[in-house]
Amino acid sequence: MKLRTSDNVLIIKGRDRGKQGSITQVLLDKQKVIVEGVNVVVRHTKATGTVRQAGIIQKEMPMHSANVMLICTHCNRPTRVGSRRLADGTKARVCTRQGCQEVIE
Ligand SMILES: [Zn+2]
Repeated sequence: MKLRTSDNVLIIKGRDRGKQGSITQVLLDKQKVIVEGVNVVVRHTKATGTVRQAGIIQKEMPMHSANVMLICTHCNRPTRVGSRRLADGTKARVCTRQGCQEVIE
């Protein structure tokens, strides 16, 4: 999993293809992410005892990380993520776009 919370991503598959958003949650064990305003489902819920409020609730559903592309913070284009070992030994994510190749924070 190369994605992290607050990354900006482009949706490349599914109903919300072409949308962009910020990752609000990463589900590492499922290889899924939740993206703000994307893959929203509307739940009509009834008040059943103690469970939440009744009515219409909008909820962002997790989507598979393969269906999103990270948007490079330098060139502002969706990119595949490479990795590079920095001088201090830590691994960094890098943009694989030609002419960019910058480290993505
Ligand atoms: Zn880039």
